[in-house]
Amino acid sequence: MTRFIFVTGGVVSSLGKGLAAASLAADLIARGYSVRLRKFDPYLNVDPGTMSPHQHGEVYVTDDGAETDLDLGHYERFTEVPCRASDSITTGKIYLSVISKERRGDYLGATVQVIPHITDEIKSRFVYDIEDDLDFLICEVGGTVGDIEGQPFLEAIRQFINEVGKERAIFIHLTLIPYIPSAKELKTKPTQHSVKELLSVGIQPDILLCRCDRPIPEDSKKKLALFCNMKAERVIEALDVDTIYQVPISYYEHGLDIQVLKYFGINPDEKKPDLTPWKNFVKRILEPKEEVTIAIIAKYTELHDAYKSLYEAITHAGAANNCHVNVKTIDADKLSNDSMDTFSLKSVDEVGKIIGAVDGVLVPGGFGIRGIGGKLAAIRYAREKKIPFFGICLGMQLAIVETARHVAGLKEANSTEFGKTPDPVVGLLTEWQKGETIEQRSEHDDLGGTMRLGSYDCQLLEGSLAYKVYGKSIIKERHRHRYEVNINYKDPLEKAGLIFSGLTPSGTLPEMCERPDHPWFLGMQFHPELKSYPLHPSPVFVEYIKAALKHKKG
Ligand code: GLN
Repeated sequence: MTRFIFVTGGVVSSLGKGLAAASLAADLIARGYSVRLRKFDPYLNVDPGTMSPHQHGEVYVTDDGAETDLDLGHYERFTEVPCRASDSITTGKIYLSVISKERRGDYLGATVQVIPHITDEIKSRFVYDIEDDLDFLICEVGGTVGDIEGQPFLEAIRQFINEVGKERAIFIHLTLIPYIPSAKELKTKPTQHSVKELLSVGIQPDILLCRCDRPIPEDSKKKLALFCNMKAERVIEALDVDTIYQVPISYYEHGLDIQVLKYFGINPDEKKPDLTPWKNFVKRILEPKEEVTIAIIAKYTELHDAYKSLYEAITHAGAANNCHVNVKTIDADKLSNDSMDTFSLKSVDEVGKIIGAVDGVLVPGGFGIRGIGGKLAAIRYAREKKIPFFGICLGMQLAIVETARHVAGLKEANSTEFGKTPDPVVGLLTEWQKGETIEQRSEHDDLGGTMRLGSYDCQLLEGSLAYKVYGKSIIKERHRHRYEVNINYKDPLEKAGLIFSGLTPSGTLPEMCERPDHPWFLGMQFHPELKSYPLHPSPVFVEYIKAALKHKKG
């Protein structure tokens, strides 16, 4: 029997509801329960695929090709349970579905309203696509209680809890308990107000999870319990920690999972958790033995969330190597003289001065022409100076362009994403395709309908670095791109020292490239960072950091 855990946030945004939900899941999984996580986002976009990383952080892609909120990345990293398209719901998706039904006449002439039609549609997503033997489904509602957009979700939860019964559903509210320096006190009032807001829509939270920067005194907990109608043991502090990967340990120590199990009448001693892998991982992060510096040549330098999974994958790989990784984010624009001209690269010497002493250069995924010249300049620098190079998606495409232009003598080679070129070494499938069919499409792909999304098989060349990294010949990784490397340029590129070490099983689309004449130069069309977990880091990242360490030691 599946039990439902609803998680909302109050007082302020950015309290880390996604991490809270994911960490609770990690604790329950460590006890041996099966858990899935699901995100309900109140915004009107059908999915975050079209939202700028500036506004919303990275787009996380699932195996089945859904473009989702970055919180799903946390879910996977903390649980290793692959998320699915059905785990990402937005108001836009709900309305799209209701309006399509209305147009089809499914509502038999009824007046279509928020209650019951929108709330029914939301409720259907609480139970849709879950395994019969799933122990817990955790549903996180985005935004903050009190937001107008969130109201239909709260109403749907209220109705749902009423229908399935309190014994099958629990409501956890995450709030902030701020410390006011002048009063030298933690303040509970904002939390009381947030709970009042919930009570006004008919929801009594069962557990209060309180973010705080210092322990909450017992009398404050009692006060909160009194004003919010709950037992003091269900007021749980969520203390700030040094790394997000300490959260499952901290929650366990403060008894969150115990309270959840007790609520459902499950004996917490029935299955004891084993948090040793988490503790070991955290220890490796907090007590690294070595350090390396990696330059990431990026477009969104000021916004950490824009490359969330990438930074996390680097952290995982660092820990696997007992090593702290200093990430030096370099604005790609600084490495060219004109950010909109892909041919205006700064010289290798100038680039070296700007990038400084680093043990690796990484060019991540991206869209659009801005910063392309700078990224090409960085790749040329890494290639010539034999600095470990890691190119992801756009990073691989540009590694191809760079070798084509500077080694193969195809001076005007380019990706057609950035303009007309006599040598489209990277282009849209329709521009050079020879029989390859990409069957999997985005569920909602109005923006061109050409995006390759989700998990695909890739066949690795035996004896290559790619093969050595993965240790097998067929791998599955996730994609999110429109353009493809043009296999028709295989010969000139190979002559220029760049080989295709990974191909689609049909052999028509290059998926990985490398330079055998270089200590570590690997490009890939997919995003391995989307499948890197703290307890099982992505092998490419682990090997890359290893190569960076080797570079550092000379
Ligand atoms: N802009 C490139 C494409 O669409 C690369 C995308 C990416 O890096 N995710 O193919």
